[in-house]
Amino acid sequence: MLRRIDIGWADLPHSRALETPFPAPERIFPGLEEINPETFPEFLDEIGLVGMGGSGFPSSEKLRAAVEVHTLVINGVECEPGITIDQTVLLHHALWVQAGANASAKALGAKQVLLAVKENPDLISKLRKLYPEYSIVSLPDRYPAGAEKLILKKLTGKIPPPGTRPHQLGYLVQNVVSLRAIGRALIDGVPVVERPLSLAMPSTGFYKNIIAPIGLPIRDVLAAGGLTHDPARHLIVASGLMMGHEVTIDDPIEKTTTSLILLDRENFKEQERGCIRCGTCNTECPLGLHPYALVERIQNGKTRSSAFQAQMNECFLCGVCSAVCPSHIPLVQTLAEGKQCLP
Ligand code: SF4
Ligand code: SF4
Repeated sequence: MLRRIDIGWADLPHSRALETPFPAPERIFPGLEEINPETFPEFLDEIGLVGMGGSGFPSSEKLRAAVEVHTLVINGVECEPGITIDQTVLLHHALWVQAGANASAKALGAKQVLLAVKENPDLISKLRKLYPEYSIVSLPDRYPAGAEKLILKKLTGKIPPPGTRPHQLGYLVQNVVSLRAIGRALIDGVPVVERPLSLAMPSTGFYKNIIAPIGLPIRDVLAAGGLTHDPARHLIVASGLMMGHEVTIDDPIEKTTTSLILLDRENFKEQERGCIRCGTCNTECPLGLHPYALVERIQNGKTRSSAFQAQMNECFLCGVCSAVCPSHIPLVQTLAEGKQCLP
């Protein structure tokens, strides 16, 4: 049974009511009672759903591969600085999130739904009222706590062995916004044509959450959100400061655009230096990988060994190694290139 509980926008700092330009059309998709394991992946294809937490992986393929799943995990552990869209959607679009989660759990045959969020007593107490049927599990408010592997570590007590998919351990992890999209399609008949996202300009204390039509130029979204962009002064980072990438105002909003953050170019004048072998990247990597050793192999074209490929498969490009490097070496950029070398 879905329940709607209203929580005021004042409950959530840096947020305002999400507005959608789309009127609710007539229902054109199947109701919850019609969802079953055979039809659900097709439904996800019909609405055009990909992982909206940033992965962009086709959701139907993820569902088809998931067998013997006992627990659906709603991933609301967004941890990139300046992004609050997952918790905003959890608080304000609970009806859609629940509809998407319940439909997914039914299609998977999952026995329970877990809601994973950051440690925040105030947020958790509100979510308990909104999602009384789900258990809530909290993770540290520290990047990259929302990574699938770290959520599974919390649930199973250890990092999943290399190459293990979550469903092989009985779990399927779905991002909040993806589940919202499923619920939106089920309840209102709206396919994946809109994208909730955070807008931020940290230097001025500007933080907002909005819904933008997918495909709209970033220029129009910034204007609609009330953000003034000066190309000479600001660079725009899409989808997070740690895992995101630079975009221009002519680029479109994509299904995976979790945020747009404007940064002052002034603050990006640090010069890259040589590696001083301090080992910080090794100790801070959440998976215990050796980022600089991987980068050296990529730069020297030594990418054929199984040890290298196993480590590269594990790396999820979180960017922690780059962020902590005192020599400002853009390790994650090279690691992303290294991913292309994998068979
Ligand atoms: S990006 Fe760096 S810190 Fe993150 S998983 Fe990969 S090697 Fe580790
Ligand atoms: S953190 Fe930077 S300087 Fe230190 S070992 Fe890693 S790459 Fe080298």
